[in-house]
Amino acid sequence: MKLFRFGQPGAEKPGVIYQDKKIEVSRFGEDYDEDFFAQDGLNRLQSWLQTHGAGCPEVNEQERLGPPVYRPGKIVCVGLNYKDHAAESNMDLPKEPILFFKATSSLVGPNDDLILPKGSEKTDWEVELAVVIGKKATYVSEAEAMQYVAGYCLHNDYSERAFQLERSGQWVKGKSCDTFAPLGPYLVTPDEIPDVHQLRLWLEVNGETKQDGNTSNLIFRVPYLVSYISQFMSLLPGDIISTGTPAGVGLGFKPPQFLKEGDVVSLGIEGLGESQQHVKKIF
Ligand code: ZN
Repeated sequence: MKLFRFGQPGAEKPGVIYQDKKIEVSRFGEDYDEDFFAQDGLNRLQSWLQTHGAGCPEVNEQERLGPPVYRPGKIVCVGLNYKDHAAESNMDLPKEPILFFKATSSLVGPNDDLILPKGSEKTDWEVELAVVIGKKATYVSEAEAMQYVAGYCLHNDYSERAFQLERSGQWVKGKSCDTFAPLGPYLVTPDEIPDVHQLRLWLEVNGETKQDGNTSNLIFRVPYLVSYISQFMSLLPGDIISTGTPAGVGLGFKPPQFLKEGDVVSLGIEGLGESQQHVKKIF
């Protein structure tokens, strides 16, 4: 299944791709939140669609999309998880996954504007594969980890490099600004993805390719990450793990390249769809 949410910010309704059409499934009576995933919502929705899908209203293509998951409990990010990106960042390959958080208030729809934070001069892009957790994961093994995955999303882990690296302390300051986590268009369930470690991911700025990688180059793969993170914290239904970015971020160019007002960032992952953000300056 491909799930999405649409409508104005804060008033999104649930939708799903059904027989190649976008349909509204408000009548199912649930949003895609922690309870939905915890109570086997994906399977229940799939059964419900068999009898009700054909009668659901179609969603207009012009509708704004929201993030496909409603207010996840947390966004856990993995740093330096592609060799080529670690090299361009002049950092050693990590021996264990580097984890950091991104505030959930940074979440926006896939095609919402990127708002440059106040005083920002070094806002950068990072196309990433995001994993959505389907059930509570505490001390799970790598072998059983995939049972805890609800699906996958496209994510742009926007990063303010000065806030992240020059303002001391943890990376979280440069990762959590409002609009820094466009997620979607879809939550795609694992049955639609033949091999999550064979997906091309790419990003362009103003039509020029900056990142063109493949999840086959992940240092730490999805089952390992779910298991690893669950040794330190419980992952709850709806939580998001963003798995890291391949080479080609603005910081890696010589000289570095950062976003400015008017830029257009386009990105995609094979099988998960595409998104586009217009860069705005209001502060
Ligand atoms: Zn990242």
